Amino acid sequence: MDQVVFHAGHAKICKVEKERVMEMEKLVSLCKRRGFLFQSSEIYGGLNGFWDYGPLGVELKRNIKEAWWRDMVSGHNELVLAEEAPSLFHMVGLDSSIIMHPQVWKCSGHYDLFHDFMVDCKESKKRYRHDQIRGRWVTSRGAEIFVATQVGGEEGDKETEQRALKYFNLRSKQAEELAWNGPLVSLTTVADFSKVLAPEAKTLGTLTAPREFNLMFKTIVGALGGEEDAAFLRPETAQGIFVNFKNVVDSSRVKIPFGIAQVGKSFRNEITPRNFTFRSREFEQMEIEFFCHPADSPKWYQYWRDRRFRWYLQLGLASSRLRLRDHDKDELSHYSCGTADIEYAFPFLPPGEFGELEGIAHRGDFDLRSHMEGKLVRQGEQLVVESDEHGKPRHRGSGKDLKYFNDQTRERFIPHVIEPSAGADRGTLAFLCEAYQEEQVEGETRLVMKFHPRIAPVKAAIFPLVNRDGMPEKAQALYGELKKEFAVFFDDGGAIGRRYRRQDEIGTPVGITIDGQTLQDSTVTWRDRDTLQQKRLPISQVKEELRAFLAPAQS
Ligand code: ATP
Repeated sequence: MDQVVFHAGHAKICKVEKERVMEMEKLVSLCKRRGFLFQSSEIYGGLNGFWDYGPLGVELKRNIKEAWWRDMVSGHNELVLAEEAPSLFHMVGLDSSIIMHPQVWKCSGHYDLFHDFMVDCKESKKRYRHDQIRGRWVTSRGAEIFVATQVGGEEGDKETEQRALKYFNLRSKQAEELAWNGPLVSLTTVADFSKVLAPEAKTLGTLTAPREFNLMFKTIVGALGGEEDAAFLRPETAQGIFVNFKNVVDSSRVKIPFGIAQVGKSFRNEITPRNFTFRSREFEQMEIEFFCHPADSPKWYQYWRDRRFRWYLQLGLASSRLRLRDHDKDELSHYSCGTADIEYAFPFLPPGEFGELEGIAHRGDFDLRSHMEGKLVRQGEQLVVESDEHGKPRHRGSGKDLKYFNDQTRERFIPHVIEPSAGADRGTLAFLCEAYQEEQVEGETRLVMKFHPRIAPVKAAIFPLVNRDGMPEKAQALYGELKKEFAVFFDDGGAIGRRYRRQDEIGTPVGITIDGQTLQDSTVTWRDRDTLQQKRLPISQVKEELRAFLAPAQS
């Protein structure tokens, strides 16, 4: 079976690292035990980079996607001007196909440019992403070598030291015979591979030169399919929005500025899928393409950057583990005037490292222009259509006019685009990591998933205290009533304390118990998952109370 691989999953790791890895392993085991996440095709040994969401996982992820859709699209009030928004705007949705005309990917640049560089190790037969290997230069016994590792931080230092000692045949107490020539650096800075000790090799120079690897999954359309019928599974949902820009404008009377949102599967043949669902080969994205006038685009970029960051905070990610990182100028794509990533300090990353949850990019007019004119490349300060050796466009655009016409100002222009692009699986993983807590309660360890009530898979559990005296009947009636509106769960099995614990483990925010007093005064016990406080309220008010408890905050 494929292992769930974490960055820090190596044998010799320091105490803090060990605790973090253990924490992550506990979360992975809870996810399997309680039905959040399973390995895809597990009974056949699994398939690396693919995951299945179990009964609770599917609810959690659906709640996250629905919160996103409600907060960004269906609940967006275009008549109310938010304080920080430059003007009123519409938000509409779309669901485009996964397989599209191959020309889409040629013009978008994915066909030529969507690749990572990989290196193979001839000794261990392992394949790595070139930019994910790091290492340190070290000199000993007259030779200088580059000791490579897949991990960063303190753990990377420790691992490279152990491996250098082994390579030079030294014992731990001879560590001073190793002269380190700088800190951990990326393998991309190394020109001479003959001096590299690959992450799982015993001899030098076993890595091949970096080779390009296109991340798009290829497939064949139709029964007669040959190479000319090759198509691709989409690596992002965004292009489906760009190619429908005109359809949406013509059919829905939206006026610029407006946004089109889409949630759907994307596929990338990642070289090294890892860290649970963080880097998968099939995943879901929640993307917005926001179209605006070029002159207003810097303001809208700022708006979406801030609004999307706030959304994660409102749904419960702690500000200490969440950050908004503006890309440096040299990190920006050739067409981008600004990009910021929302990042989370996942527990499987070394301390101080963050993983991307969402990117917010100012994309200028790059996408719409590409689909009009053909694949664009930068020439000095200009974006021009790339030409072949005969001076013809290398990848021809649709030739359609995708400009927007403002009938009030009589201006015709190609809108600029701001793209907040989020991963539903990475978001779900961050919410799972954030929720996981172990607490000491009355001398016992309580495992509790502290999900925000809006995303919790089960909102409330209904318990009859004992299975007699009419309590089960009353509890079932309340369950039936609440079930019409909320995801609630009925449990009459075992001691009440144990039933509470089972619900804590899956993050159910409220427990409602029908007990002896209910029979006398029609009140129930309401137990709060986080504070463990209990209060009594009339059974007739439970529905209203739950509704208020689950209501979304304004976003
Ligand atoms: P990375 O640098 O981590 O590969 P990216 O910058 O290529 O990510 P984008 O192309 O900006 O990612 O995609 C937008 C979002 O889609 C990411 O922020 C992430 O949440 C999600 N995403 C991208 N690739 C994957 C993947 N392999 N598995 C899970 N989610 C992904």
